[in-house]
Amino acid sequence: MAATDPWRQRAQCAGSDPEAWSTDNLPEDQAERARYARRVCDGCEVIRECAKSALDYPIENGEYLTGVVVAGFAAPGNPSKHRACENFRKRIAARFDLPHFDATPSVLRAAANNYEQESKE
Ligand code: SF4
Repeated sequence: MAATDPWRQRAQCAGSDPEAWSTDNLPEDQAERARYARRVCDGCEVIRECAKSALDYPIENGEYLTGVVVAGFAAPGNPSKHRACENFRKRIAARFDLPHFDATPSVLRAAANNYEQESKE
């Protein structure tokens, strides 16, 4: 996700407290988490661009979007939760009717390994 994408200037979250979009601050309960994520992005005029950008994240390079609310969905906090990460992408794709790259288990493992490496640094 390039921070310089022009649509980002019109994002509801631009210039806002990033903590509001951190999944660290979301309720534990899954249904409440989903409601919170929907609410925090509700009314954002660039939600579709945001969804596309999330699906363009270079997962094939072993990178994964984690720990943030994106396009009204809460990304899992850790890419080692493979099924949750893939479900997150599938739900975004389905809601906005967007194509998405189906990550294979080896791609997801690579993303989880990258995450662990970065966490140690
Ligand atoms: S949809 Fe949510 S995360 Fe995406 S740009 Fe809008 S407010 Fe930010």
